[in-house]
Amino acid sequence: MKRKTVLAQIATVAFAAIGAALLVGCASLHTPHGGFVTLAEAVPDAILEIRYYSTYNFVGERIDGYEQPCALLSKEAAKALKAASDDCVRRGYRLKIYDAYRPQRAVAHFVRWADDICDTRMKAPFYPNLDKSVLFKLGYIAERSGHSRGSTVDLTLFDMKTGKEVDMGGTFDWFGVESHPDYRGISAAQFKNRMLLREIMVSHGFKPIAEEWWHFTLANEPYPDTYFDFPVHE
Ligand SMILES: [Zn+2]
Repeated sequence: MKRKTVLAQIATVAFAAIGAALLVGCASLHTPHGGFVTLAEAVPDAILEIRYYSTYNFVGERIDGYEQPCALLSKEAAKALKAASDDCVRRGYRLKIYDAYRPQRAVAHFVRWADDICDTRMKAPFYPNLDKSVLFKLGYIAERSGHSRGSTVDLTLFDMKTGKEVDMGGTFDWFGVESHPDYRGISAAQFKNRMLLREIMVSHGFKPIAEEWWHFTLANEPYPDTYFDFPVHE
């Protein structure tokens, strides 16, 4: 009788352990951090073009920490982005996402790349007028990025009528004053497009920055002091 009780107890413990393992397994099927969601799930109308997973970016290779071509954001930022996306759809656009949460190891990869001033293979499309040695000094590359806090997104508008990206008078990750949202050396229509993107994002709780028309952070971000480093995957 006693032996049976011990066996029963062992079985109970074993089942509990299996149950716990299954729970852990299930959790990892979602995002690596419980407070984050994938944009494919949270903002299904958004188009994803994750440049740091691809090799078409200013470095010219896949960036450390981008294990899948997906985009993660804090639940709070994703909720606000869903509202912005719904707004876009009503106006005949979709949001096109270039980057969202960015692990610290990816930022370290940028720093390593910036230190090697001989590696200029992507100069032509991203910084033709700039000497690579000034990227740190001018603030294009830094040791930390707001993206690592998980509530910042890089994006543009995609026009459902033309089937093309909206003309913003410049491209994502262009290093130069031409990327400043208020740059006036572009056409009136291009400037209007930048302001439309800004108006939509700001009206849904995001704040812009002065240097990049494509970059927005949730004003009330949930992790304002945390720079995460878990990799990007579902
Ligand atoms: Zn950005």
